[in-house]
Amino acid sequence: MHFEDGAKEDFDLTIFADGYNSLGRRYVSPETKQTYRGYVLWRGTVDRRRLSDGGRVLERSFFRLYYREGHAGVYLVPLADRKENVSRANWGCYLPVRDLQAFLVDREGRQHSGSIPPGLMRASRESDRKLWAREALPPYFGDIVEASTDTFAQAIYTADVARYHRNRTCVLGDAGILVQPFTVSGVFKATNDALELAKALNGADHVDEALERWSAKETELGRRLLSVGERLEQLLIWRVPDFEAMDADSLQRWLDEIRSIQ
Ligand SMILES: Cc1cc2nc3c(=O)[nH]c(=O)nc-3n(C[C@H](O)[C@H](O)[C@H](O)COP(=O)(O)OP(=O)(O)OC[C@H]3O[C@@H](n4cnc5c(N)ncnc54)[C@H](O)[C@@H]3O)c2cc1C
Repeated sequence: MHFEDGAKEDFDLTIFADGYNSLGRRYVSPETKQTYRGYVLWRGTVDRRRLSDGGRVLERSFFRLYYREGHAGVYLVPLADRKENVSRANWGCYLPVRDLQAFLVDREGRQHSGSIPPGLMRASRESDRKLWAREALPPYFGDIVEASTDTFAQAIYTADVARYHRNRTCVLGDAGILVQPFTVSGVFKATNDALELAKALNGADHVDEALERWSAKETELGRRLLSVGERLEQLLIWRVPDFEAMDADSLQRWLDEIRSIQ
């Protein structure tokens, strides 16, 4: 390994767990390109005390709201001090964004890659999206979005890799196969990759063979999750049905289709 300060070190094994934009992935699987999925997650939070009902509706559930080309999640998150009634309403709306590069220019004209940090989204863009939320969401949730300041957005990417190691260099978690967030599997996959690596190496007579077996297993798991993500993406982003036009049977078929994906 060659470090920024010029130092060089030899290691028995190197593990890159450096997230979605991984340097390790570029070494282990140089042919892999990240794929932008055509949408971003636009997010924000607001102190529940600022809501008309103090956020009581949100105590009931995690709310998922659907609209044409996407859906939103809204739920309460506790603050670090966990005092009663100081939690925040947290929300995220998946929104198609065709021209990602233009979207990732901040209010000072700087180009970002992958995300727009809190408070840096162009004011006109943020207010346009808030107007959209007024139209697309029920009024209670439109109010939550309206009351949120310093909103931010993350572009959604996937990446497929053919292997999880190259010689004695490994990738883990999002540095390996990167899947859509609404599969709710990223933390599980990262933890699983690490635990399985420890298991494979524990007492192995041949490290290279153990890495090969581990890599094949994690690649298979990652690809399965990627395929779940691709199918969910169709149902939850690109082909969201018109619920008003549905009867109970067609709604049930839609729910069954989602549940059958594994
Ligand atoms: C919008 C969104 C919502 C999500 N929701 C869920 C969810 O509900 N449930 C779920 O399970 N998963 C969710 N995920 C996915 C989950 O966040 C990731 O899969 C998980 O964090 C991957 O863990 P990781 O350790 O591989 O990478 P990360 O958590 O990204 O950690 C990588 C770390 O490496 C550091 N790093 C990067 N480059 C370098 C470098 N060159 N040198 C040193 N350090 C470096 C980074 O700073 C970071 O701390 C979501 C993801 C997104 C984008």
